[in-house]
This record gives sequence, C-alpha cells and structure tokens, in this order.
Amino acid sequence: MFDIQKIRADFPILKRKVNGYPLVYLDNAATSQTPQQVIDAIVDYYSNYNANIHRGVHTLSQEATDAYEKARQKIQHHFNAKHAHEIIFTSGTTHGINLVANGFSSLLKKGDEIIVSALEHHSNIVPWQMLCERTGAILKVIPMNTNGELMMDVYEDLLSDNTKLVFVNHISNALGTINPIKKIIDLAHNAGAAVLIDGAQATPHVKADLQALDVDFYVASAHKMCGPTGAGFLYGKEDWLNKLPPYQGGGEMIAEVSFEKTTYAGLPHKFEAGTPNICGGIAFGVAIDYMNRIGFDNIANYENELLQYATKKLLEIDGLKIYGPDVSGAKTSVISFNIEGLHPYDIGSIVDKLGIAVRTGHHCAQPIMDFFKIPGTVRASFAFYNTKEEVDKLVQAVIRAKGMLS
Ligand code: PMP
Repeated sequence: MFDIQKIRADFPILKRKVNGYPLVYLDNAATSQTPQQVIDAIVDYYSNYNANIHRGVHTLSQEATDAYEKARQKIQHHFNAKHAHEIIFTSGTTHGINLVANGFSSLLKKGDEIIVSALEHHSNIVPWQMLCERTGAILKVIPMNTNGELMMDVYEDLLSDNTKLVFVNHISNALGTINPIKKIIDLAHNAGAAVLIDGAQATPHVKADLQALDVDFYVASAHKMCGPTGAGFLYGKEDWLNKLPPYQGGGEMIAEVSFEKTTYAGLPHKFEAGTPNICGGIAFGVAIDYMNRIGFDNIANYENELLQYATKKLLEIDGLKIYGPDVSGAKTSVISFNIEGLHPYDIGSIVDKLGIAVRTGHHCAQPIMDFFKIPGTVRASFAFYNTKEEVDKLVQAVIRAKGMLS
C-alpha cells in the first residue's frame, strides 16, 4: 500500500519551515532526504556498537563487522550481483569511477579508445580525461539529439576493435533521460569492450539487475537513495576486479607486508584500504530495506504520475521550455526548464524565498548546457515523498517569479 501521508511522516525534515513556508523539497536528484529509520540506525551505531571492523576479537568489533558485512549482502541481493565480494564499499559514485579509471591506467596503451556519452555528469567525464592524459588513450563521445537522447547509430559507428571501455550513465541527472543501457552494454561487448554504468540517478528510481544487464562495473551513491552521504558502492565482475590493481594502499587491503614485498588481500578488501565509513555502509543497507518496503514498482508508478502532472502544469506557463525527452518517452522524474528571457538563478532564488528547494545551474553537466547554448536550467526533481500539492506550489511560485522578473 502506498500511503503518501504515512511515508511523509517518516521524514522529519519535511516538517520544517524555510523562510516561513513549509519546505517543498524538489532537489532530490542532488540528494534525497533521510527517513527516521535510517537516522535511528546511525544513532544506534554510535550509541551501541561503534568499533573498528575486521580486526577486533572483542564483541563490539564483531557486531560492527557483522552489520557492515550484512549491509554488503543487502546491496548484493538488491542489485542481484553474483557474489558479495563483487560489491566494494566506496564513498560514493565519484570514488567508484575514479577507482576504475585509475585501475585502467595499467591496462590501456596509446591509441586505445574509450567512449563516453554527451549526457554525463562531470564525475563520469573528468576521471577518464585524466586516464587519457596518463595513457595516451583517446576519448570519443556518443552525441545526443535535441531531445537529450543518445544517438545510438553514431555509437555503433564509434565502436571498433580499438574500443576498450564504454562509460555511460543509466539516467541523466540534468535531463532525466533513461538511457538504453542494455543495448549499450551488448553492443560494447560485441566489440570486445567493457562497460561501466553510472547508476547515481537510477538507483533511487529503478532496481538494476546487474547479472541480467551483464554489466562489468556499476557505481552509485547511498545519499541519493535515502541513505547517508559519504557512502556508496562499486560493483565489478569478479574477473574484472581481480584484473584491476588496488586503488589505494594501506591497512585492511593487504595479505602480508614486509619491506621487501607486500601481497594484497582478496576481494573485496583489496579495494578497501583504511577504516571505511562503517556507519554509512550500515545505514545504506537500512535505506535499501526502507525503499524496498515501499516497493520500487510503487515508487516508479507514483513518481511517473508526479512527472506527468508537473510537466503538464509547468508547460501551461507561457515561455517555459523543458529540456530533455518527451514525457511519454524514457524519462524519470527530473524536469529541467527555463523561461524565455529569465536567468535560472533568479527563478531559483525567488522560489527559495517561498520555501521551495530546486537546483539551478549546469548540474555538473556543462557539455549538456553548451549543447543547448544555455548557462543552465532550473531543475525540479521529485521523489516518492513529494505530492501534487507541492507541484502546485512550485507552479504558483514560478508564475510569481516570472511576474516579478519580467
Ligand atoms: N553521476 C551522476 C549522474 C550524478 O547525478 C551524480 C551526483 N549528482 C554523480 C555522478 C556524483 O555522485 P557523488 O557526488 O555522490 O559522487
């Protein structure tokens, strides 16, 4: 049962006021809000069993280790990975991408090609440019059309025997486009290339099946799925993770250390140097449980209703343009828009005065803004705890901002 009022009651922050108005939080693509169940798990950890993991024989250390490893299994089962040791805890999506990009330094040579898409967040562009600088590999880009959809025919032409790796987001944070990742993965594999999918924007909305996708690497962040910041995961197929060298050296990631030679621990520890975000990992597991109790089908249906409703209402405003795929197509609950003649920042500032949180700017995706020849957009992004009444408030606030700024 999808009881929106009961769900909203789980999120203490939704009771607060901003600038004298009840908070309307529509910046979920940047970070989601945290339910009491996850907050309680964080308090419980620090109140009752805060200890370093994997090393201690004492009770607290064992309790913390058990909870942390259980969280790894929750991630494994939720995303249907074959093995728990294919799940590497990270500080988030950015960390996971950098780990893989760093590992490929020793696998690429001058003239090898790697392929990105025009729809990416900077964190799925910059680490690969750095990799190209280190190795002499060449970065190619799958272009997009004016609907913000990838041009798959060009992608097929870009693939060749020289292609070693393809990295694309599952869902675009700037436009909400859902990319045809299964097709992208299959085509890359036919060409002999590996694939990394940036799932940062997808995991709050859809449940990816990693084995069915047959993807080589998948990365995401806990804080977009009702979990804490500073936690996330990298999934890698066992063979790939064995092939990649460690990212950082330190404690926890070794088998034996001497000044003559150090050997590394097996998976997943090889990639988890140092004391990790223990509490963050555990709370991530609790957040996944929370979202599963609501149900991803329920979440997708409800958010799609909000998307359709908000799109229709916003488009009734004269001069308002929405960027990205048509709402009947492959799109999730992100609306990126501008009003002719107005700067997105000014609209964002005025709606904030009315208690409404939206994001303005380039959304860490400058190439997309350059493509549309705009400085940025106003982005409203919805979660399952938003309501149609909140959409109405957004629409009224945008109308008011337009009136003040025109
Ligand atoms: N990729 C996408 C598509 C994103 O939306 C984000 C976060 N906005 C990231 C990567 C980076 O995630 P994080 O900052 O949690 O590492």
